[in-house]
Amino acid sequence: MSREFNQPMGGNEMPRFSGIASMFRLPVQTDAEGLDVAIIGVPLDIGTSNRNGTRYGPRQIRSESVLVRPYGMATGAAPFDSFQVADIGDVALNPYNLLKSIDLIESHYSACLAHDIIPVSIGGDHTITLPILRALARKHGPLAMVHVDAHADINDLMFGESIAHGTIFRRAIEEKLINPDKMVQIGLRATGYGADDFDWSRQQGVRVVTAEECWYRSLSPLMQEVRQMIGADTPAYLSFDIDGLDPSVAPGTGTPEPAGLTSSQGLEIIRGCHGLNLVGGDLVEVSPPYDTTGNTALLAANLVFEILCSLPGCKRR
Ligand code: MN
Ligand code: MN
Repeated sequence: MSREFNQPMGGNEMPRFSGIASMFRLPVQTDAEGLDVAIIGVPLDIGTSNRNGTRYGPRQIRSESVLVRPYGMATGAAPFDSFQVADIGDVALNPYNLLKSIDLIESHYSACLAHDIIPVSIGGDHTITLPILRALARKHGPLAMVHVDAHADINDLMFGESIAHGTIFRRAIEEKLINPDKMVQIGLRATGYGADDFDWSRQQGVRVVTAEECWYRSLSPLMQEVRQMIGADTPAYLSFDIDGLDPSVAPGTGTPEPAGLTSSQGLEIIRGCHGLNLVGGDLVEVSPPYDTTGNTALLAANLVFEILCSLPGCKRR
């Protein structure tokens, strides 16, 4: 029996600027029942250290996602002919309490994961990834990780706090949510508090690929190595901080750093995850108040589409 999959509303049925702005103009439902892939918004910005505004990220990315069409022309990917996908709305956070919000995110994802779904998340600052990983690791065990970012996010403490958007990957490795031997961080750069800032990652066994190592080149060969390192079966996660990309293409973010990755390199990384056993992914740190053209959110929506295209089992033409 063939399944009927949800389809994005077409641009010739209802003009793209009209209607309710669900992600990719997909149907909205209240839980993950019956889905293969759930798109979940996490409008958090109280984990940020500099400019805020990522609480508006999910709404703005949904709004700009109306321009994304259902087929990837370069890859031939057809995610909406492959998976049952819906937008299941946002996690209800406590905007006065980061630690409570983290727990709310974890329990929301645990409930979603009672269904056999792949969560694809739109942030929200990068703090959201920690509770998502806690929920996913409980289901799948320690995960392989592809982490795109200008920052390593491996601080021990920030203002004495162990949970903040710049500490999450240290916590995730300490809590064994991630297997550091199967983790790569791509796009790290700029200024640090000490010249050895990225060394903690390396000491854990993480492969660190700085932005300078990416300049002027295709990242397809790197991703081939990453796929080899991680393997096709290991449950893997893709966490994409938009500030991994250069501020010229993604200015709408809270901690921008110069000389980052190009948008095409961003696509190469996500497309290079095809062949991994991705069990989840996120796109974080879009801050609409700093995104005066809307192009950061538009790019983010396209990157989320590319994540769908790289999920295991996505059909290709
Ligand atoms: Mn980050
Ligand atoms: Mn960052």
